[in-house]
Amino acid sequence: MSWNGIGRVLLARGSTRFFSASRELRPKEVSLSPEEIQALLELQELDLKLLEYERHQKELPRLIEEIEAPLRTARSGKERVEAELATARTQQRGVESDLASNNAQFKKLQTQQMGVRNQIEFEAFKHEMEALKDRADSLEETGLKWIERMEEANQRLPDVTTSLEQAERLAAEARAKLDAKTAELKRIHDEAAELTAPLIAKVPPQVPTYYRRLRGAGKAPFVAVIRRGACSGCGFRHPAQRMQEIKQSRRMLVCEQCGRIQVWREEEERIGF
Ligand SMILES: [Zn+2]
Repeated sequence: MSWNGIGRVLLARGSTRFFSASRELRPKEVSLSPEEIQALLELQELDLKLLEYERHQKELPRLIEEIEAPLRTARSGKERVEAELATARTQQRGVESDLASNNAQFKKLQTQQMGVRNQIEFEAFKHEMEALKDRADSLEETGLKWIERMEEANQRLPDVTTSLEQAERLAAEARAKLDAKTAELKRIHDEAAELTAPLIAKVPPQVPTYYRRLRGAGKAPFVAVIRRGACSGCGFRHPAQRMQEIKQSRRMLVCEQCGRIQVWREEEERIGF
């Protein structure tokens, strides 16, 4: 049925809670044939599929982050233990090397001490050797601490390795699931996208324009079937006289309260009562 059909008289009025900027943009009321109403509802069904994919696409970075975050935590947990182990090993080697040169120095002084000629020189050597001995004790103590740290890290290593392997397995599973869901939604999206054009062609041209605005606002349903005299989108009850007009002319109107497109279908009414 064309735009110049029988029921284009009334202008939409009233509150615009759902689609507030739209009052002047609202379409003039237009009579829709049952086929046009059907096309509009089918269009909405397809659009909901398109929107689901669009929403999924927007959500993807967050969903991926949810998968990646525990993996990152497990990875850095293992890296931390490995770094602790490497540090302890390096430090312990440093201590060993210091200890070796300390001992070599001690032995050198010991040999030299045997060749001294007087007590003063002997005491000087003794003093220096005692200092080296003290240093050796302290180095040994430090070396032991690093060995303990190495052992601790070595003990923790299997756990963090297992945790990382587990996190990798879980992440791979979750990622595969997510990829499969994305692919499935895309398949549904692409199928639906191909079917929308012929449906848009089936409704009066002013309807899709307003419909697209509602779709852009994103609050489904955009086309609300009138049930028991009320908008099925927001529950607003249309005045009885208005309902009578709608039924007689099958007008498409917009809900005074939420701005959604209202369609009335006889069969729906039968189910409703
Ligand atoms: Zn409504």
